[in-house]
Amino acid sequence: MELLNKKILVVGLARTGVAVARFLAAQGARVTVTDMKDEAALAPFLEQLADLDIDYELGRHERHSFLMADLIVVSPGVPMDIKPLLLAKAQRRTVISEIELAARFLTAPLVAITGTNGKTTTTTLTGEIFAACGFKTFVGGNIGNPLIELVTSGEAVDRVVVELSSFQLEGIVDFRPQVAVLLNITEDHLDRYATYQEYIDAKLRIFENQTSADYAVLNMDDPLVAAYAGKMKARVVPTSQRQELAQGIFYRNGSIVYRWEGREELFATASFRLKGVHNIDNIMAALASTLLLGCDAGQALAALEAFAGLPHRMEFVREVNGVAWYEDSKGTNVGSVVKSLESFDSGITLIAGGKDKGGEYTPLAGLVKERVGHLILIGEAKERMCNALGSLTDTHLADTLEDAVTLAHRLTSPGGVVLFSPACSSFDMFKNYEERGERFKSLVRSLDDGAGR
Ligand code: ADP
Repeated sequence: MELLNKKILVVGLARTGVAVARFLAAQGARVTVTDMKDEAALAPFLEQLADLDIDYELGRHERHSFLMADLIVVSPGVPMDIKPLLLAKAQRRTVISEIELAARFLTAPLVAITGTNGKTTTTTLTGEIFAACGFKTFVGGNIGNPLIELVTSGEAVDRVVVELSSFQLEGIVDFRPQVAVLLNITEDHLDRYATYQEYIDAKLRIFENQTSADYAVLNMDDPLVAAYAGKMKARVVPTSQRQELAQGIFYRNGSIVYRWEGREELFATASFRLKGVHNIDNIMAALASTLLLGCDAGQALAALEAFAGLPHRMEFVREVNGVAWYEDSKGTNVGSVVKSLESFDSGITLIAGGKDKGGEYTPLAGLVKERVGHLILIGEAKERMCNALGSLTDTHLADTLEDAVTLAHRLTSPGGVVLFSPACSSFDMFKNYEERGERFKSLVRSLDDGAGR
């Protein structure tokens, strides 16, 4: 791809925008960066580009810059349907995401992972397994390290693992992963998509450039994912916890079985530190991806046994007077809360709520009725959630997270579980899900476990 002297517009200047601008400038492109935030808000990022000859249009988007660009590279946080991008596309300007740009310069085998839930866990684990098997591995994408940083560094790696959101997939053209994983699809981001089908279609684009030389790892237990299996050009590698497969990877009597082209490997799950039914899906996807691309089963198992999971995903905080407290602040949609509730049989006090994303809460109804003894709702979504679920169990509305924690402490009997799994994003009350999770954990750590109860 020739970039020398090309007029390139970078839309969105956060960490990815900086990395893209640096890369393009180094290639001799004429770079303009535009962002709706102003100079003051972007100061830390601008500083990182201070040594380069770059033009800026900040606090605004200039329509003509979009129309005159030879290429437009969009950062992951910027919606593909903002007006100037739609105009540029209508005028046949090439609009791509950072992942598309980066992948054009990569040669190492690439595993790409998407789904509504489990992406970060699966991506991290896949990277850990490759590394444990002796492959020099870059892990990036949505997860924090822009893929373009690998290209800029010029570092030679053996394997690349990327987590992809539906937003990044909307900006691909030729992107073709050797292994593409689709973990699950449930409703999410309806605040950013006109319809659920649009969100599904964006996710499915991960497979669009694959050929019969590539692999599509599909969770056949997810009816929506399974429904698309027949449409793949790549070889389908099915995964299932429910059925034994002639070929693929599946769960049977306490073991994960990998069975592919005459090779069969067995992984006993008792020794895994990562718990929860949903994590079996993630582990199967990671194992399939890595074993298909040259990993040894023994070394993969060692990596699995060492992996304790990531913070803010069903993280055990502490036990207070016989009640176990879990923080699942990353449970930002209904699908992930379903899985979190499935991890406990009964006696759950669920703290949920936050910024409403416009989806349905009713898929939680059965589990709430069956397993949730007390439901405590917070945030902007609390009324809508209360309307959908409030009649099913003992339900309370709380003004703050602190009030919710105090109430849960008072209501939950020994032997029970308090689960903070919001089913909503955090932006109504917090900077992000990490801040929300940290706040919850510090509240739980300061709970009185003695006479105060
Ligand atoms: P993502 O990167 O897709 O948001 P994470 O690994 O960060 O995924 O997990 C997000 C949330 O989804 C957490 O609440 C976690 O417990 C839950 N989760 C993880 N894996 C799965 C899965 N395979 N199916 C459903 N929920 C999951």
